[in-house]
Amino acid sequence: MKIHEYQAKEIFRKFNVPVPDGGVAFSVDEAVEVAKSLGTKVCVVKAQIHAGGRGMGGGVKIAKSIDEVRTYANQILGMTLVTHQTGPEGKLVQRLLVEQGVDIKRELYLGIVMDRAVGKFVMMVSEEGGMEIEKVAAETPEKIIKEWIEPGIGLQGFQARKLAYALGLEGNQVKSAVKFMFALWKVFDATDASLAEINPLVVTGDGNVMALDAKMNFDDNAMYRHKDILEYRDLTEEEPSEVEASKYNLNYIKLDGNVGCMVNGAGLAMGTMDIIKLHGGEPANFLDVGGVANAETVANGFRIIMSDPNVKAILINIFGGIVRCDRVAQGVIDALTQVKVEIPVVVRLAGTNAKEAAVLLNNSDLDFIVAESLEEAAIKVTDAVKE
Ligand code: ADP
Ligand code: MG
Repeated sequence: MKIHEYQAKEIFRKFNVPVPDGGVAFSVDEAVEVAKSLGTKVCVVKAQIHAGGRGMGGGVKIAKSIDEVRTYANQILGMTLVTHQTGPEGKLVQRLLVEQGVDIKRELYLGIVMDRAVGKFVMMVSEEGGMEIEKVAAETPEKIIKEWIEPGIGLQGFQARKLAYALGLEGNQVKSAVKFMFALWKVFDATDASLAEINPLVVTGDGNVMALDAKMNFDDNAMYRHKDILEYRDLTEEEPSEVEASKYNLNYIKLDGNVGCMVNGAGLAMGTMDIIKLHGGEPANFLDVGGVANAETVANGFRIIMSDPNVKAILINIFGGIVRCDRVAQGVIDALTQVKVEIPVVVRLAGTNAKEAAVLLNNSDLDFIVAESLEEAAIKVTDAVKE
């Protein structure tokens, strides 16, 4: 789950991670109110969307007066902000963060993510803050310094100091940075975060270290124990079809291709996507319908797949282990009487009662393309897309 910058900063304040003073605004008047309450000479008006690169896209403006706050708030609220992370369609700005302008001496980078390869967290720093860290990672990876954190032990003092020195910090700045890193690790650990990224982490004119930007992602599976964070969810920022799917407990991720996939089990769904690609097709989605592939779940699956106009054919690949294939086949037939699907549907059912399922599909009035092996199914669906 993703949240906005201002929300991450609210969480940071609770854990004593230093951030500028500021507040959220949903209208121009609210933005002006926040600016007045800050009482600082310089304010920064920042678009709040679930994507970075806002500065370069015109979504971060420095205002030197209340009038300028009004002008910029007017400009940014309601604009479609295009950044390298939003894709060409951009994102509509519906909220602003108005915060105190900070006297920046240096812009650094600090991030924490999970490193699945070693089963630990990794804290990363770089002196190349402020710009696209993806570019630094790709072109000059030696400029990113990493320390791996044992989840059960946590960040150690020597690691934080090593990272602080790697950032070229001196004297009190080192102390301030070490304190910052411990506080950030504590937030990360306590909130079941999967990512925390501070870009830029700044050294201020008076030598303090502060988070000027804040990005946090959380582990969806842990959100049941963080009701307060769940409140931060902004559905308008999420892919509508994914929001819809989550209502039905379907694990759906939208992708860019044209072959719709309906599969039971995440592993089989991944394998199905792989074999479609192997035969020259492009999956339009990942969809795991879970253990209960009945008429209702299949119908919901069809609805969600069909809401994507790029889909030109659908591959249903169900393995009948506990669920019986004939039940699934009946589910598919029933679902197609509820949902209009006018594109080719390839069905491959294997496992318990697969033969009975094939008879049901063949005897129905509906026009299925039946496949026996997964490979045959992949070939048939990629052919169907070409026609
Ligand atoms: P994004 O990463 O989406 O572009 P940031 O929050 O990193 O957005 O802001 C972009 C740039 O704007 C920062 O690198 C910094 O130079 C400047 N900036 C952001 N917030 C402030 C602030 N409170 N005071 C001064 N400058 C700021
Ligand atoms: Mg940033």
